[in-house]
Amino acid sequence: MARRKKIYEGKAKIMYEGPEPGTLVQYFKDDATAFNAEKKATIEGKGVLNNRLSEFFMSGLTQVGIPNHFIKRLNMREQLIRSVEIIPLEVIVRNFAAGSISKRLGMAEGTPLPRPIVEFCYKDDALGDPLVSEEHIIAFGWANQQDLDDMIALALRVNDFMSGVMLAVGIKLVDFKIEIGRIWENDFHRLIVADEISPDSCRLWDIETGRKLDKDVFRRDLGSLADAYTEVARRLGVLPSNVTHAPKPTLIN
Ligand code: UDP
Repeated sequence: MARRKKIYEGKAKIMYEGPEPGTLVQYFKDDATAFNAEKKATIEGKGVLNNRLSEFFMSGLTQVGIPNHFIKRLNMREQLIRSVEIIPLEVIVRNFAAGSISKRLGMAEGTPLPRPIVEFCYKDDALGDPLVSEEHIIAFGWANQQDLDDMIALALRVNDFMSGVMLAVGIKLVDFKIEIGRIWENDFHRLIVADEISPDSCRLWDIETGRKLDKDVFRRDLGSLADAYTEVARRLGVLPSNVTHAPKPTLIN
């Protein structure tokens, strides 16, 4: 098969030119990184799981009318998506304190927040994706006021959907990150959810035990990341029958 043109390679995914204008093929790698890529590993099967999980969440968003980039899954590691102009912001929604907000404000992890809190970080690896305010976003032209209002509304709708889906399988959605892109139609644009939604970009805690089922397992060395993601996929009923992260057979001399 003729190899597609690579458009961009990130830490966990590769984008290839799509079959039609306005489309891309998104390939999920097995690579895991944390702390701005200071910590790296290859986790066998992660890409397959995240491809499936992102398909599951994005298709669910479509079903409840939340616009997103997902078109269809192509194979174990690839999905066809709409090409968007990515807004250079990470949009984070938090329901409970954890991670950076706990550190920044001295709040114990797991503290319920009075309401979902939306934060923005400027996407720049060299700067470590710094937290920015709405003032920064408008002043530096990363988005206008209308985009900002739409981004917050979109993020909160995704939060309601994701919280409900996870609650139904005994998982608490502590926080998550999404990326949002613009789709142009003549001189007008609208915003849609892009990138991925997977345990790489969410904090997911088992409601009963508090067990972490997300990338913190890797960040904090809490055990097998593949086991945690497999558990999420299994509970959601999206585990492909032929995925396995069993150890490779060893040659006996
Ligand atoms: N997150 C992400 N990519 C990033 C930073 C954060 O997907 O580059 C996700 C992270 O997995 C968590 C949420 O956004 O679900 C909030 O992350 P936080 O700000 O607490 O950052 P961290 O603790 O990872 O530094």
